[in-house]
Amino acid sequence: MLIVMHTDASEEQIRRVCSTIDDMGYTARPMPGRQRTTVGLVGNDGRVDGSRLEALPGVQEVIHVSKPYKQVSREWKPESTIIRLPGGLTIGGEAVVVMAGPCSVESEDQILTAARQVREAGAVILRAGAFKPRSSPYSFQGLGKEGLRLLARAREETGLLIVTEAMDSETADAVAEVADIIQVGARNMQNYSLLKKVGRLRRPVLLKRGLSATIQELLLSAEYILAEGNPNVILCERGVRGFDSSTRNLFDLSAIPVVKAVSHLPIVADPSHGTGHRDMVIPMARAAVAAGADGLLVEVHPEPDRALSDGAQSLYPEQFARLMGETGIIVEAIGRRLARPVGVEP
Ligand code: PEP
Ligand code: MN
Repeated sequence: MLIVMHTDASEEQIRRVCSTIDDMGYTARPMPGRQRTTVGLVGNDGRVDGSRLEALPGVQEVIHVSKPYKQVSREWKPESTIIRLPGGLTIGGEAVVVMAGPCSVESEDQILTAARQVREAGAVILRAGAFKPRSSPYSFQGLGKEGLRLLARAREETGLLIVTEAMDSETADAVAEVADIIQVGARNMQNYSLLKKVGRLRRPVLLKRGLSATIQELLLSAEYILAEGNPNVILCERGVRGFDSSTRNLFDLSAIPVVKAVSHLPIVADPSHGTGHRDMVIPMARAAVAAGADGLLVEVHPEPDRALSDGAQSLYPEQFARLMGETGIIVEAIGRRLARPVGVEP
């Protein structure tokens, strides 16, 4: 960390910065320059509270040289993390993994039909929420534990793995019993007690980017999970709040190469929540895999017009089949392949 002093900072002010650094248990290295003095803080263990120094008189700015996250960084682990799932499926390797299904589990018939349809088109993981974080308390809140039971049934019948959301620490264990991947939704990205809880569970976690979270905040949230001992985190770009109402969110494709450069964790993309309109999902799915996403999370409903949540962004099953065909071409063009359903030889 570098503390840059104002050009007219007094000797007394520089001494005060140095003694504060000493007080904090680190070493201060004043570096007088022609115009101003910069003080280096040596021994930064990632716990330094820069704001304490920023507020001292004579300080112009504090420059963070090292990143505030550690275990999620490529400096910590240069090789990409490959998440291993039951049946030999992996996320973060060469194969691009498609997770698809309705926003919510609504009924046995709905989830089983959806599971068969997405499997038929080539998805390898079924997505659907049993516990739903809805903006309005009057909207459909999900079937809860009954929804989990239906997801387990869909897996039994189709062999698809399951990704589903844990909304709070109280129900996270029940979710972990059924889920092959536990989803932490955008609204919970900074729910630190939930992050710690899923960090202690032995299941991979799909961590969605918060509604207005920076990439650094997303990585810091992932750091919470790794710091508790769970290294299997999949990041998910799902759009952030923008100023244009043409789309539900501003789908940040550039987050994909940014994350790839600074972190070893896999990142998947959710073009459904990213756009909010089904007609925009296929183009953005194509773009996301072209940008290097390790997978897609896509909402597909057997009858989107009757969906209890997110119908407008849910694909019709035939649209999903087209998405698979088109993204398959792009995936191969960039030297990757689509993950095959569990138990099916390539
Ligand atoms: C979802 O995946 O259905 C969901 C609620 O997503 P997000 O948390 O990204 O809004
Ligand atoms: Mn949804």
